[in-house]
Amino acid sequence: MESLPDDEKLVVQELRSSLLLYADTEKWQQSNEFLLSGYREPSGSVIGSVKSICQLHNETVNIYSHLIGGLVFALLPIYFRFVYDPSATDLLVVAIYTSGVAICFFLSALYHILDNHSHAVSAFFNQLDYIGIVVLMWGASVPTIYYGFLCDMRLRLVYWGVMTFAASCCAVVTFLPCFGTPRFRAYRAGVYASLGLTGLVFVIHGLVLLGWETQNRRMALTWMVGMALVNLAGAVVFATRIPERWVPYRFDIVGCSHQIFHVAVMIAACLHFVGVLSAFWGTRGGSCDAGQMAIN
Ligand SMILES: [Zn+2]
Repeated sequence: MESLPDDEKLVVQELRSSLLLYADTEKWQQSNEFLLSGYREPSGSVIGSVKSICQLHNETVNIYSHLIGGLVFALLPIYFRFVYDPSATDLLVVAIYTSGVAICFFLSALYHILDNHSHAVSAFFNQLDYIGIVVLMWGASVPTIYYGFLCDMRLRLVYWGVMTFAASCCAVVTFLPCFGTPRFRAYRAGVYASLGLTGLVFVIHGLVLLGWETQNRRMALTWMVGMALVNLAGAVVFATRIPERWVPYRFDIVGCSHQIFHVAVMIAACLHFVGVLSAFWGTRGGSCDAGQMAIN
């Protein structure tokens, strides 16, 4: 607080009058010890929590970033349908991906809205927030497998089945009562990393079968690498609590690590969407002959 300029001190004091400091929050509200102010009081009611989206607090940016992002991804199939004139199957696989992203973002926004309701409600919606990540990862694999194994229905079915099984396992584990406890933090990371690694298996298999040039066109691997790097950067910021650990109070309302993580996830989702579009273009008009695809 001492390190802030006078005008920013005034803003902090203003926020403090209606909101809580970290030290004054309930134990269950404390997940980031570097986020020192801007907390809402426990509402105990859904309406109370929903009303708080009209107020400025340390969840406002988290709520609106994913509400707007969710809306954009929910509408993207309409854009794809009318601008790209796809077949019904192309539209379906792209819509599965964009719907997965929209579901993930809406569940995330819902969690951030209801985070101040009560311990039980916050914990439940935190689990749903994790389920959203599973839905997003599963949905992202659907068009990649579809275009990646364009001439091999058997491999498509195998990998769609494997991803569906792995995602279902993740979802079941997420709802175990012990899942959210700090003791299971490492297992939690391991479960989600294994779903990501399952995705890596079909990418490598495709590369072994058809080589980089073909698979880069069909799976948009360059875009996928970009998506993975942006996600990784977001995860590093999220885990290290940068920048709020460096300047107390300054980033409590705008600019903290969780908000940067949200933006990184949105950029990564856009990169994957562009990748899916390029896979759609890269395979359009081709025909399969004896299991191999000829691009006209
Ligand atoms: Zn979040």
